[in-house]
Amino acid sequence: MSSSPIAVYVHVPFCPSKCGYCDFNSYAMTGNIHGRTVRAMVAELKSSPHAGRSAKTIFFGGGTPTFLAAEQITLLLKTVIEVHPPIEGAEITSEGNPGTVDWPKFAAMREAGFNRISLGAQSFQSDDLLRLGRVHEASDVARAVGAARSAGFENLNLDLMFALPGQNLRGWNANLDLALALKPDHLSLYCLTIEPNTRFYRHFLRGTLDQPGEDMQVAMYDNAVARMEEAGYPLYEISNFAQPGHQSQHNLCYWRGEEYLGYGPGAVGCVSEKGKRHRTTKMKHPERYCESIESGLNLICEEEWLDEDAVRLERIMLGIRLKEGLPTDKVTLDQTGIATCLKRNWITNENGRLRLTPAGRHFCSEVATHLA
Ligand code: SF4
Repeated sequence: MSSSPIAVYVHVPFCPSKCGYCDFNSYAMTGNIHGRTVRAMVAELKSSPHAGRSAKTIFFGGGTPTFLAAEQITLLLKTVIEVHPPIEGAEITSEGNPGTVDWPKFAAMREAGFNRISLGAQSFQSDDLLRLGRVHEASDVARAVGAARSAGFENLNLDLMFALPGQNLRGWNANLDLALALKPDHLSLYCLTIEPNTRFYRHFLRGTLDQPGEDMQVAMYDNAVARMEEAGYPLYEISNFAQPGHQSQHNLCYWRGEEYLGYGPGAVGCVSEKGKRHRTTKMKHPERYCESIESGLNLICEEEWLDEDAVRLERIMLGIRLKEGLPTDKVTLDQTGIATCLKRNWITNENGRLRLTPAGRHFCSEVATHLA
């Protein structure tokens, strides 16, 4: 088993309510289950077969980690740090919902060791937030950013979504203006995708989801990329933009195909074992997760052994999303596919790296298929 520093992911599966578009492993549960799950997560961490391996990055995602009480989220981080001592300068992030945070919670989190906050703003328009089913209001975003900054967070991301139902280019630009005015260090800009088993999917099937068409989605994305570049947030991944030195170190581990550990309900981990990559998913529902820990039962509900070719395919799919591109000497690529993508002006091939062109960013999956 390797002993090199590794990315550590902690999944907190609770949210105040379920958003209409969400297919993440998240549950609108309150009460004792929070404390019970935190105790189970502490027990999972303390009995980890990887205990002692240092953390390259730590990331609390969800769900809404900041829906936990300050004592609960800080206890979890304290345990992670005991089990996986972070390397010097490690990025330690928590996602947060602007409606579930205040200065005292941020101050406690900063004190515990978190040094990066990622806020799910999504939109600054009340109508959008209502339609999305978000619990926060537009004014909560600026309040949350102010609270995070005054609690000492010098590294802050805002998530925004575009192609929302009823949204037009003007509304999207207004959101970008408001986000930039808050001077985040990093912005993640995602196109709303309609996932099965969501409220939005049912609207989509009924034809009542008024989502902007494909041409408008392309215009919104291209417009955002240009505006981000202009504002000093160059693109470093197809949906991610950062001021120099503020790229998400944790997410870069995923996109570069590195190993990672996952703790908590539904958390996914992927580590090298017996010459292969072993990907595991923990019990997803908090009740099942707690029962498994409390009764000493198997915590893994899904597992997969990835052979070399499967690892190579994932490396291509994820790596081509990065501005740094794919190294042609380290990944085996299809030469005919490279030629096709070059001919279509979807990629460039310079200095030993394949990179998406602005046009190619709209055909990312097709490019990956050609290169594989
Ligand atoms: S806050 Fe995030 S994880 Fe929670 S329901 Fe909404 S989209 Fe899903």
